[in-house]
Amino acid sequence: MQKLTIFHLYPDAMNLYGDLGNITTLIRRMHERAIDVDLLDIKRGDKADFKYADIVFMGGGQDRGQKAIAGDLSKRGKEIKSEIEKGLVALTICGGFQLFGKYFKTSEGEMIEGISVFDAYTVGSDKRCIGNIVIDTSEQKWSSNSRTLVGFENHSGLTHLEGNTRPLGKVVIGYGNTGEKKYEGAVYKNAYGTYLHGPVLPKNPHFTYHLILSALRRLYGNSASLKKIDDSIEVAAHEAAVARAKTAKTVHI
Ligand code: GLN
Repeated sequence: MQKLTIFHLYPDAMNLYGDLGNITTLIRRMHERAIDVDLLDIKRGDKADFKYADIVFMGGGQDRGQKAIAGDLSKRGKEIKSEIEKGLVALTICGGFQLFGKYFKTSEGEMIEGISVFDAYTVGSDKRCIGNIVIDTSEQKWSSNSRTLVGFENHSGLTHLEGNTRPLGKVVIGYGNTGEKKYEGAVYKNAYGTYLHGPVLPKNPHFTYHLILSALRRLYGNSASLKKIDDSIEVAAHEAAVARAKTAKTVHI
């Protein structure tokens, strides 16, 4: 039986707007395909060897949560980065995404160091980008008919990408990385950063599919494939969320 191991970073401090649902979705979609799953919650001070991780996940967190875990994360930074270079799959949301970049400078001017998986930096602003968001991910070479990801964003940090780090998508509705309705998220190898809460995976089944398939291929070789399973409910949720986002107004406060 195939098995994948998920490392969940700081579930106690980094979990906003249903981010934990991403873990539930990954596990559920693997079980439905008869893939066994090991889930390891990693809290501050816990021992963890990232050589055994197939998927790393870190959710969003308020500045307070980010400050609390940044020191512990930085000790693991070298090891995580070295596995990412070897194709480790990672999904990081909002505050987690920011700390997988170089740094987050809060609106009070406090520096929170990140681990530089993404060539990106985040600066806190005095506006907050809140609302439903839809991004166009046609640039991603995923085997899927769907070209959009849908979610909910709520951040004051504005993220700027540099170097080899590409955006995850183009903003269709919402604010995105810099609040200017341009690009959203970041991709480096198999590591993804995004502002999309919601949680993102349940209503974007093609993204879930892509993450699981990438992890499977890294572990079992490129011939590994992923059984297509019924995702009509998830696709309907995706379409409903896109339709709702079109009618809703995004707000700055
Ligand atoms: N504290 C960060 C910001 O507001 C991250 C918030 C979040 O994870 N939703 O930019």
